[in-house]
Amino acid sequence: MTRVFITLIFVSLLSGCALFDKISYFKEETKPPVEVKKIVVDIPKKITPKLPLWEKIPQNKVVDKYCDKVEAKFRHWGWGRSRCKNIKWKNVRKSFLGDPLIWTVYGSEELQKTATPKDMTLILCGVHGDEITPIKFCFDIIHHIERVMKGHIPGHEELKDKLVAIAPIVTPDSFFKRRPTRTNARGVDVNRNFPTKDWNKDAIRLWKSRYRSDKRRYPGPKALSEQETYFQVNLIKRYRPTKIITVHAPLTILDYDGPDFRSEHNHGDPLLAPNAQELLVQMSKMSNDYKIKNYPFFPGSLGNYAGNERNIPTYTLELPTSDNRNHKKYWAKFKKAIHSAILHDMKKEVEVAKRPSKEGENTTH
Ligand SMILES: [Zn+2]
Repeated sequence: MTRVFITLIFVSLLSGCALFDKISYFKEETKPPVEVKKIVVDIPKKITPKLPLWEKIPQNKVVDKYCDKVEAKFRHWGWGRSRCKNIKWKNVRKSFLGDPLIWTVYGSEELQKTATPKDMTLILCGVHGDEITPIKFCFDIIHHIERVMKGHIPGHEELKDKLVAIAPIVTPDSFFKRRPTRTNARGVDVNRNFPTKDWNKDAIRLWKSRYRSDKRRYPGPKALSEQETYFQVNLIKRYRPTKIITVHAPLTILDYDGPDFRSEHNHGDPLLAPNAQELLVQMSKMSNDYKIKNYPFFPGSLGNYAGNERNIPTYTLELPTSDNRNHKKYWAKFKKAIHSAILHDMKKEVEVAKRPSKEGENTTH
């Protein structure tokens, strides 16, 4: 009898607690049903729930590997963590050397496909791979939006209806070189390769005459010959941005291309020009009166393609240097300007701004 009892205990131990589970399950079932009252909690609408920050996002293999590369470069330049693996990336095409060209989106993309697209901001960094501070700057923008969207810093209510797409490293092949270069892996200046109307006639001619065939400014064998150019053109086609911010260095200016608010004869949307001007002035004011300068656009440049030919207000923020050590300073200086630029609705009614009385240096086109 004792032997049978010991065997029973042994068997029940072997089968884990299955037996006890069954017993408790049985007990559970025999309980009379308890009526659960629904508790309704009235959550005030304005309080944003704090969502966890920096959760691991599943990435495809290529992007996952790429994120390791990004993280290593961040360490190399002393920029802290990139949080690359905690960001929801999109990726369609690759660079010449095989790195994924990535971007991230905040807001609903679906609404942009309707007949009346929303106000939309496209932000591009790292078009020239040797301008490295802009790349960190785009990650700072992404980190900022993540914090706002997840309720860790205020601003969620006003940002939640906005659509923003950010491509932080447009030309990775040059950024990841031991010595980063302006041109991409095929030796092309991506910001001279956009398919503008004047490209065939002027791009190569001007490059030879004005720039004496400077290799750093080679516009490519033909317009739109580069993956990085396709990438940007497709982002513009896909999202139909109402404004574009592109970050470069080191010219220390804020440049604008788009509907001409200096001209008496604005063409296109009559609201667009004063609205675009308002944002230009606002961005400068919010960054301690950063210098606004009308830098000329070129055959094949983004300012020409998007601003001049497509009437999309395009803001080029040229940071003061490419010095990796200045990244915190630049983000502190321009954070407010970038945040307000994203919020600035390009389609809202604005009081038509008066023409600037002095045009002076602003006529260098
Ligand atoms: Zn540049």
